Amino acid sequence: VILPLMGLGLAVYFYSAPENFNEEMLRGKRVIVTGASSGIGEQMAYHLARMGAHVLVTARTEAKLQKVVERCRELGAASARFVSGSMEDTAFAEEVVKEAENTWGGLDMLILNHIGHSYFNYFDGDVDHIRKLLETNFLSYVAMTVTALPMLKESEGNIVVVSSVAGKAPGPFAAPYSATKFALDGFFSSLRHEFIIENVNVSITLCILGYIDTDNAMQAVSHAIKVAPSPKEECALEIIRSGALRQHELHYPPGIVNGMLLLRWSVEKINLTFLYSISSLNFVPSPL
Ligand code: NDP
Repeated sequence: VILPLMGLGLAVYFYSAPENFNEEMLRGKRVIVTGASSGIGEQMAYHLARMGAHVLVTARTEAKLQKVVERCRELGAASARFVSGSMEDTAFAEEVVKEAENTWGGLDMLILNHIGHSYFNYFDGDVDHIRKLLETNFLSYVAMTVTALPMLKESEGNIVVVSSVAGKAPGPFAAPYSATKFALDGFFSSLRHEFIIENVNVSITLCILGYIDTDNAMQAVSHAIKVAPSPKEECALEIIRSGALRQHELHYPPGIVNGMLLLRWSVEKINLTFLYSISSLNFVPSPL
């Protein structure tokens, strides 16, 4: 038992990661961004373009992706293209990675960011919805990782997985979404251990995000969450920065996880009605 643990400890100790972020690190890099037709994904595409990366963006809405690609070219992307389709279908997820392979002959960074539509309300008992959401929010992430891994091993690249505080500390009204985000942590944090044991020099960064001011998030929860959302532009930059620095986890805004874990502990220990009345979060489910 002790020898493998010592080996793991040494591997972690000698694991080298760059200490300081420099935007030049992304110049000429080949990057896939999923869920890039809006929100945080769109902002990541613009940052990467400005830094001179090659970007391949994907989502379902072709018209929006076309505009994102045009803007990326204006901002100075080394190249910009899109593939449209739904991540409910794992064959499509694999196709996106193949497109990168055919176009660039390799890949440096895989940013997994898309989410399928869910609801903010009491769990309605719909098992099919959870199955569908797991396909979109979890299995497509795994499928893209599997297909991209040979290229990422060759480039000693980065996998960036966008998750949420709901994937670390579950609150009410988001049971299906929360389940898919916990699945990401379980799978990718376990995989990271295996990479360290096997000396696979591909980094995995899990991004734990709080409330961000994207149109869709504000529409879904602004009536219920009274804290101010953080800006999507800054959030997008922090995600790219953490991936390039090969960090294991990003917590944005800073301190969010400590706050949520404290809230989780409190939820388990204190009477819920009392907690909600003192909390800055005023949970009100939206109508189905
Ligand atoms: P948005 O809703 O703005 O963007 C979601 C993206 O996913 C869009 O580009 C959408 O494009 C795409 N998408 C939706 N369904 C599918 C599908 N079936 N197949 C392929 N693509 C799809 O999300 P945010 O920018 O707010 O969130 C981005 C990430 O950040 C997510 O992983 C989310 O969980 C995480 N996060 C966000 C928070 C927030 O407050 N905003 C808080 C915590 C975490 P299209 O409709 O064209 O397919």
